[in-house]
Amino acid sequence: MALPGVGLPETGVHDRTRILVVEDEPEFADLVALWLERSGWEALVVGDGALAAGECHRLRPDLVLLDLGLPNVDGWELLETLRRSTDVPVVLVTARGAEADRVRGLRLGADDYITKPLSFPELVARVETALRRAQGGVFEPTHRPLRCGIVSLEVESHRVEVAGVEVHVTPTEFRLLQHLAEHCDRVVPHRELLETAWGPGYADETHLLQVAIGSLRGKIAVVSSQPVIATVYGLGYRMMSEG
Ligand code: CA
Repeated sequence: MALPGVGLPETGVHDRTRILVVEDEPEFADLVALWLERSGWEALVVGDGALAAGECHRLRPDLVLLDLGLPNVDGWELLETLRRSTDVPVVLVTARGAEADRVRGLRLGADDYITKPLSFPELVARVETALRRAQGGVFEPTHRPLRCGIVSLEVESHRVEVAGVEVHVTPTEFRLLQHLAEHCDRVVPHRELLETAWGPGYADETHLLQVAIGSLRGKIAVVSSQPVIATVYGLGYRMMSEG
């Protein structure tokens, strides 16, 4: 136990994996929290979207479950605010059929999404996968910078430089870049990229990969006109050491 005044803030350290649920409907939030608690996680609910970013900073959750259907708050703005200040995995809860919302959410750095009405076992499975990815189970940490052409990655700090200029990427985008750079100049199949960056069970979710690659290309294009990630039709993607 930390002594008063010398330890970390009391909310900064926690034993159980902590999930922040941002949801305005109390009965639904309670149900979600119950399922999360039953899976062994600590669930904390914020009902007011306007307070969510502050609560996230204070409570330091291991994952945020963010309902986009919040009154009085722009959920997109909230997601962007979270992404600017933290790499915490964010799983979005969206309305069924809102494909455009899902694509937009992934572009803004959400890790995954689940649609309402929720299947609670699916919710638990998605949270589990996002947590495992974030805890580094799917890649090997290393200290040396990884290079392929004009791209340089510091794996420990998740820092990315393109042609010497720092580029901010989401954790999922980083895993993609890392895997492509590790296979510099070689074609990496879609399924392999999906399983590496998102996890087992995601091999067929090609739309996730398309959105993430599109987002990465956009970010790279801001600092360099040299093409970095080539599409190899019907096979996968290749990071190029020469443009
Ligand atoms: Ca809601």
